[in-house]
Amino acid sequence: MAESALGKPDWSNVQRALVIMAHPDDPDFTCAGTVIQMARQGIEVTYMILTNGDKGNHNPEITRNQLIAMRKIEQRNAAQLCGVKQVLFMGEEDGFLRPTRSIRKRVTREIRRIRPELIICPHPDRYLVGEGYINHPDHRNAGLVALEAIFPAADNPMFYPDMADEGYLPHKISQLYVVGHEQPNVEIDITDDINQKIQAILCHTSQIANPEEAPQRWRERWGETQPDGSVRYFERFRVMRFDR
Ligand SMILES: [Zn+2]
Repeated sequence: MAESALGKPDWSNVQRALVIMAHPDDPDFTCAGTVIQMARQGIEVTYMILTNGDKGNHNPEITRNQLIAMRKIEQRNAAQLCGVKQVLFMGEEDGFLRPTRSIRKRVTREIRRIRPELIICPHPDRYLVGEGYINHPDHRNAGLVALEAIFPAADNPMFYPDMADEGYLPHKISQLYVVGHEQPNVEIDITDDINQKIQAILCHTSQIANPEEAPQRWRERWGETQPDGSVRYFERFRVMRFDR
């Protein structure tokens, strides 16, 4: 395998990680391989899904509330497969996520409660993906919601001082992992976990139109042929560190 110029992850001081995403299935597509490796090392991973996913369907037979319930079950199944213990559903309306004051406060409360050393979130500034996909606005806004809760709110006691009465004290994270960034600086080889990642994605049965053919397509799209001819799979992040 060719030696990559990108850095390797350092989770030596990480006990808890929080993954903040817009929709059920976003963690699985963007970072499930990494989460599987974290969980295997004993890191306690929590998923926070900001919207209820109620637009993710084109079948008129299924009601909005049925879809919301289905997608929770699908995400819990996928999380369990990846070794994730807790999934939080924040219930914002799918398609209309905004970095409002109320969601910032709710996310800040969870950060102060869970006290993760590491947070994974989407890149808030990614409008276009490649040449054929407009990034979903919820993905951008999930990045904004996460960042605005992390800084300046979560570790500043002047923000939401009433939370101290609930026992939720200010908390500063050590590492931020941003997915979908054009200039990643950390790369994680998930080749050994690609099967498990695909199984996690397939848990989202309401979202996958042709589960028999999709995995082959994903492998072709994500696989990177190495100079020695082998095919490997990676997840890449823009990582920021606040602990040094
Ligand atoms: Zn999404």
